[in-house]
Amino acid sequence: MEFTIDPQTYLAALVAAGATDVGPLTRCPLCQSDLAPARGARHAAGAAGHLRHKHRTNDAGCVLTTSAYQPKELVAQERRDVIVGGRHREHFIGRWTHHYVAARRLLPSLTVQRFATVIAYADVLNLWSCAVLQQEDVPVVLLVLAGFMRLPNDANGAAWVRFWFDTSVQEVEDLWKPRPVPPRLFQVAYREPEFTPFPTGMQVLYWNEVASRPGWLDGPAPELSPAEMAEFRRFVARGRGHLNRGPDDRHDR
Ligand SMILES: [Zn+2]
Repeated sequence: MEFTIDPQTYLAALVAAGATDVGPLTRCPLCQSDLAPARGARHAAGAAGHLRHKHRTNDAGCVLTTSAYQPKELVAQERRDVIVGGRHREHFIGRWTHHYVAARRLLPSLTVQRFATVIAYADVLNLWSCAVLQQEDVPVVLLVLAGFMRLPNDANGAAWVRFWFDTSVQEVEDLWKPRPVPPRLFQVAYREPEFTPFPTGMQVLYWNEVASRPGWLDGPAPELSPAEMAEFRRFVARGRGHLNRGPDDRHDR
C-alpha cells in the first residue's frame, strides 16, 4: 500500500508511538541535525511540537528555530558570465509564462509584478551565469530567492511565507551537483512578528515539504490575462535598469 506522509505527521507519529530516543535517522528536515523528543518544551517546528534539536547549538542556524530574521540566504553565482548568463536568461524569458504559472501553483498569491521583481533580483545575483542551471528548477529557485512574502487570506492566520531548501543547498549550484539524495524544498508560514521587521523561527506557524513537479515547463504556453502579459512586457522593456537596486531591498521582494 502506498501513502503520502509529511514530515510533521511522521515526527508527531513517532513521538506519539512512544519513541524516547528517535535516533540518528530522525533529523530535522530543514537543517538535518539530529532531533530528540522534547518534554514539555515548546518547539517552533509547527506540528512537530514534541521534538527539538538534540543539540541546542543547532537552533541558531535552523530556519525553524533561529532567532534571526535575516538568516543565511541562498547564494547564487558571484561572477557574471555574459555568454552563459545571456543564453540562460533568454531561454527563461522566452518561456516565462510556464515559469510563472509553475511558481504560482506553489504560491497562488504570486503576482506577475512580484515575479518580475524576483527576476530582477536574480539578475543582480547573476543567477543566469550558473553554467549548470536547469530551467526546470528556476521556478522554485525564484521562490526561494524571493525571501519573505506576504501571505494574504491564509486560512490558518499566517501573515508571511517563505520557501527554503534544506541546508544541503547553500549555493544554487548545490542543486545540480552529484548528490546522495535529492534536495528538499519547504514552505514555511509565519505569524506576524511583534518585535522584528520580518519573522524568525519564533513565528513559525506551520510548514510543509513541497514536492517537485517534473515536466511542469512542458506543454503549450499557459494563458494569462492581457494585464499580466502587459505587466511583464513592461518589465522586459525596462531592461536592466534594476541593477541600481540597493542592498536594503533584500526582503519582501
Ligand atoms: Zn533544524
